[in-house]
Amino acid sequence: MPIEIPDRHAAIERARQSGRKIAAVLPIHHPRALLEAFGFLPVEVWGPPGRDLTSGDAHLQVYTCSIVRSSLAFLLDGGLDSCDLLVVPHGCDSLQGLGSLLIDLLPHRLPVVPFYLPRGEAASAVDFLAAELREMAQRIAATGAKMPNDDALMAAIEANEDADERLERLWTARASLPFDNRTFYRVVRSREYLAAADFSLVADAALAALAAKDDLPAGVPVLLSGVVPEPMALLDTLTSAGALVVADDTLCCGRRIYPRGHSPQPWRRLAERLLAGPADSTRGSTIDSRADHLTALAERSGARVVLFHLVKFCEPELFYLPRLRAALEQRGLRHLTLEVDLSEGMAHQAVTRVEALLETVS
Ligand code: SF4
Repeated sequence: MPIEIPDRHAAIERARQSGRKIAAVLPIHHPRALLEAFGFLPVEVWGPPGRDLTSGDAHLQVYTCSIVRSSLAFLLDGGLDSCDLLVVPHGCDSLQGLGSLLIDLLPHRLPVVPFYLPRGEAASAVDFLAAELREMAQRIAATGAKMPNDDALMAAIEANEDADERLERLWTARASLPFDNRTFYRVVRSREYLAAADFSLVADAALAALAAKDDLPAGVPVLLSGVVPEPMALLDTLTSAGALVVADDTLCCGRRIYPRGHSPQPWRRLAERLLAGPADSTRGSTIDSRADHLTALAERSGARVVLFHLVKFCEPELFYLPRLRAALEQRGLRHLTLEVDLSEGMAHQAVTRVEALLETVS
């Protein structure tokens, strides 16, 4: 049974019709519930891929990653002019640099609100982040949006907890869901732009399609790590080569499956959740915790291959890569690394490398 998943444009249109404003949000971690409580639909911008980067490249070094280059070009070309707010999380040095540039380059087009997530796992991080979130809320309110009260904020947090729980259930049930790789990613990636409650409806429809035993999707089980599965042709390549993505550790999806918070105080609860996600390079997790998370995920899901799908010049991910690959080899897991530029299509050489690796484990 086909699942109805509104695309970004339809979601934005519907939100506007219901009186919501649109907050464009750059990667990676951000307080989605806070934006929803303010009455915004947060819509994430991962690139977008396949764009002409000329206007952005005039302002950036050539060794900047293509997510930042594409985002800047998209913004300067007017791609987000119809939005009401732009949130720039300081997920890495490149995004932090972009945030500074945008304050100068978009003075009258769009209010820019930065967001700083603390690095590391110190006990004081929750206090720091709760205070940072309150600061961020003041900056959003200064743009004219109405500050939510604690009840409204808590309701938005709980809706997002429900949505993330469903996202996790989708991955747990992945091998029993009758979808090819692209269709499944269309479902899970709709979390990037649907309101939490709407995503929960889409997830429930997908979960209701649990397949009968003889209908199960087949393929070499693969764990996808890295940044974002763009171009999406990657997923078709995996399907054609006989692979099924059974687990995800990408920045856009698996590393943002936040557990429920505990605090009855909404600002602390927001902070708790953002800091309790899976180990992540952009949150400054230790290399050992990244390796433990990746290997445990491979074991739980039965993945036999780990595909690191990186964006060229992505320093946070490249820093961890050698030790992660060594940890996988110690456990007998095969791996492959692809580095892509989002402005380009799927390289033929990459297709060949994926096919060659999968042939050896079929
Ligand atoms: S791809 Fe890497 S360098 Fe680029 S924005 Fe994402 S985390 Fe930062």
